[in-house]
Amino acid sequence: MKPRLSRKLTGFGTTIFTEMTRLANERGAINLAQGFPDFDGPDFVKEAAVTAIRAGHSQYARMSGVPALNAALSRKYARDYGLAYDGDAEITVTSGATEALFAALQGLCDVGDEVVMFEPFYDSYRAGVYMAGAIPRVVTLHRSGSAGGEAWAFDREAVRALFGPRTRVLLLNSPHNPTGKVFTRDELAFLAELCQEHDVVCISDEVYEHLVYDGVHIPMATLPGMRARTVTVSSLGKTFSLTGWKIGWAAAPPDLTFAIRSAHQFITFATATPLQHAAVAAIDAGPEFYRELSTDFQQKRDILVAGLTRIGFDVTVPAGTYFACAGFGAFGFTDDVAFSKHLIEVGVAVIPPSVFYVNAEHGRSYVRFAFCKREETLRAALSRLEVLCASR
Ligand code: PMP
Ligand code: GLN
Repeated sequence: MKPRLSRKLTGFGTTIFTEMTRLANERGAINLAQGFPDFDGPDFVKEAAVTAIRAGHSQYARMSGVPALNAALSRKYARDYGLAYDGDAEITVTSGATEALFAALQGLCDVGDEVVMFEPFYDSYRAGVYMAGAIPRVVTLHRSGSAGGEAWAFDREAVRALFGPRTRVLLLNSPHNPTGKVFTRDELAFLAELCQEHDVVCISDEVYEHLVYDGVHIPMATLPGMRARTVTVSSLGKTFSLTGWKIGWAAAPPDLTFAIRSAHQFITFATATPLQHAAVAAIDAGPEFYRELSTDFQQKRDILVAGLTRIGFDVTVPAGTYFACAGFGAFGFTDDVAFSKHLIEVGVAVIPPSVFYVNAEHGRSYVRFAFCKREETLRAALSRLEVLCASR
């Protein structure tokens, strides 16, 4: 019999997010695994969606996005980062950041091209690279002794060694899932220089741009020479606690936008029209919304980090995102998958990060906790985890 699954998708199995949420639901475990809030998005955005549906915005949107949303995103980049993008010519609205990343990889890579990326990586990266016929070239982020954004460091010479004539794309994610690392200006400048030296495009995944607690988020496109070679990807999901809406976008100069749209027009063509209209209200939110957001999530981070540390986990404090990574050596385990299974029994679901590595062995010693949850959910999970104290 011929195999039913294509070679390019063999070996990926079912995503760890589906797997862990299924287990959590089945076993009644508190879900600190998949990164989605257990609270609703803001009323003013939901109301805008109801209004848009009632107003009859129900047919296909323009392929590149509802004009009002493209215009709002253009205002956003000018307001937040001083970046000038023409909404119609340089911004493409997609079905979540996931589709923006996928369309960018499909549009920019030829078979056999190389994509440099950091491990651990968000799991769709490797599959997206393979489906584009490209080859991932991976540098490992290692836990270092320092704090904040520099708590996960990389060997610059190892990165330099991966850049060459076949390198087409640098796939970057800052703030970084799962480590919570916020790349520093110095690190970005180093990477920017390599991109320019080797004529490489940077796809910069910035979905956690507004969830930064220590340091600041610096968009790659703001570095000298990088606007012309950067695809900035983001979405509503994390910033507005609307992960199920799947409204994302890619901002890029016209030649890169042409490549993205060449793929996007045949992947989804367009994304949900009324939700795009509602997204305008979200994007136009004032600075107080963003301030409240990061204060609120920082409190959640601090509750989780303090609780896990008290119990005996070796936590690296995340500078950004809504994930915290924690070593579990104190409890006598050496394998992230085995420990995650044990935690399901304890009543808490987490993500074993070894699936985010090309070499799974690099990710065996810690697990990822999501803290985009109500305070009572975090406290209930911590109270279940207390039983681990007995195994220390
Ligand atoms: N990139 C990263 C780093 C993520 O963590 C996620 C999580 N969902 C995505 C992209 C996907 O975003 P979206 O839900 O907008 O597709
Ligand atoms: N980005 C979220 C996470 O990393 C969820 C992604 C997903 O469910 N596909 O947990």
